[in-house]
Amino acid sequence: MQKHINHQGQVLAVDPALTWVTLAQWREQAAVLSGQRLGLEFQPEENPDIVAADLNQFDALAARFPKFTDGRGLTIAQRLRVRYGWTGPLWAVGDVLQDQIFAMSRVGFDHFALREDQNLEATVAALTDGRVRYQASWDETLPLWRRVERPAPTPETTPDLVDFEASAIAWLRKAIAHGPAALASSMGKEDQAMTALIAREKLPISIFTLDTGRLPPQTLDLIAQTEERYRLRIRVLFPEAAAVEQWVAINGINGFRESVSQRKHCCEIRKLEPLRRALQGQSVWIAGLRRAHGEMRGDIEPIAHDAFTGIPKCAPLHDWSDTTLDAFLAKYDVPVNALHGQGYPSVGCAPCTRPIAPGEAVRAGRWWWEQGAARECGLHSTGAQESTGAQESTGAHE
Ligand code: SF4
Repeated sequence: MQKHINHQGQVLAVDPALTWVTLAQWREQAAVLSGQRLGLEFQPEENPDIVAADLNQFDALAARFPKFTDGRGLTIAQRLRVRYGWTGPLWAVGDVLQDQIFAMSRVGFDHFALREDQNLEATVAALTDGRVRYQASWDETLPLWRRVERPAPTPETTPDLVDFEASAIAWLRKAIAHGPAALASSMGKEDQAMTALIAREKLPISIFTLDTGRLPPQTLDLIAQTEERYRLRIRVLFPEAAAVEQWVAINGINGFRESVSQRKHCCEIRKLEPLRRALQGQSVWIAGLRRAHGEMRGDIEPIAHDAFTGIPKCAPLHDWSDTTLDAFLAKYDVPVNALHGQGYPSVGCAPCTRPIAPGEAVRAGRWWWEQGAARECGLHSTGAQESTGAQESTGAHE
């Protein structure tokens, strides 16, 4: 008989009053089914977006894992929890394997239907102690999906955005005045806010991003989502394949963990070289740096000469607080990385980013193993910029 457990490993009784339906059944028979206690099961290829308005009709949701190699149910769970705020039971059904169940719980599943032949004790152990890991780089011991939720801005804390928007737009226009300008987007919240402003104001600013080859899928999804939302094309630059191959051949696929210098060399190949290429022909580099990031970014100026690239670097959001930024994103429903809802305020390459604990610095999850080191990739090195002059108020950093 199939066993059902919750996220704490407790065995559950089957709920006989709950009727499970597929998305197709719901769409065909919603009028007949409404009013019953219903569970909706998503197949891997189904997108919860198309039934978002109906989610309150269900008492439970489920995503099916048809086989070990199919992880699309993880994306469905994340979307339901993060985008749609589903707080009810979320079942993982199908091939709910021992070595995946911890990852499933981290993205929001809290109920699991195990196969009849599955070892209950071993699966519960994998679920509750996390020693069996799936996608190990993402499964460090920190937060569950429900752990870090930034509270929505309240009327008392919502800043007056008009002045901040006006200031950011003014700095973007000053950037354009230097000549061709490009926004180097990491697809972070700041970059998304600036992309929204650039699109809204129809500013002649190109947008590019660096695909290091190690980005999490959520970041790649966000690129597509942003292009669709703002009807623009984001230029994606990749590292030189030969350089990456040679580095990996010498150091190993995760050799950046061996030393700070090795990590910086990886960043040089996967980020800095493509960045220099992207900025060729540009007169100004626009970045999403804010003073609120703290650490090495606490004193950035709005525009400053960048010695690394030899052109001015502009930080239009330099004076935006976290509250201002979140209020802007919420007000204009700007798409953001789904990982922000899982404890990743700063998202970089998958193996080099982990969630942060409450109270930790925003960038504490980046290269976390480098205790005490200046954890920057070199794109924004404080020592590499100089003020361009008082009338420009200076500054920059991502
Ligand atoms: S963040 Fe990590 S994987 Fe990405 S380029 Fe730097 S060292 Fe390499």
